[in-house]
Amino acid sequence: MDYYGSQVTKLIEELSALPGIGGKSAQRLAFHIVNMPKERVEQLADAIVEAKKHICYCKECYTLTDQEVCPICSNPSRDKKTIMVVESARDLAAYEKTGKYEGVYHVLHGAVSPLLGIGPGDIKLKELMQRLQGDVNEVIIATNSSLEGETTAMYISKLIKPTGIKVSRIASGVPVGGDLEYIDEVTLLRALEGRVEL
Ligand code: ZN
Repeated sequence: MDYYGSQVTKLIEELSALPGIGGKSAQRLAFHIVNMPKERVEQLADAIVEAKKHICYCKECYTLTDQEVCPICSNPSRDKKTIMVVESARDLAAYEKTGKYEGVYHVLHGAVSPLLGIGPGDIKLKELMQRLQGDVNEVIIATNSSLEGETTAMYISKLIKPTGIKVSRIASGVPVGGDLEYIDEVTLLRALEGRVEL
């Protein structure tokens, strides 16, 4: 039943379609927004539209950025010969927070999942292989330790092995099924330092 009138209901529906926002949260947010001053609501809406308009993939590592090449890839002190492969830009952010990784990244934007019908062609894997034609010493696979993450890691290592480039996998100190984003920096660093060659 439509208790609130169609405009509010529409807002609640849009909000509840966002990840991690249930019906109750959507309702709470919708009423909060409706009660906000008009200028604040416009600022919020503008921020969303502008972010969507200007954010694109870095043409080297495919992370989200508002520049052609992201600040990490364009930083001359980063080691371009070490590439860490992560599933999402959020995982990249988690490793960056440790402040200890000096290489660059490659963001896959997903993981291979036969169950969900996500194949190697649906993630930025071809782009990774293209990058490896350049001068690369090591590829560190830092996909999540979920089934999909492990499947992806195996798939990538099989692809890279014949090229002779060193392939390693972050240590299994990372809890199974754990989103990298939620793991503390010490654990991430330990996983990185304890990586094993595949
Ligand atoms: Zn980049």
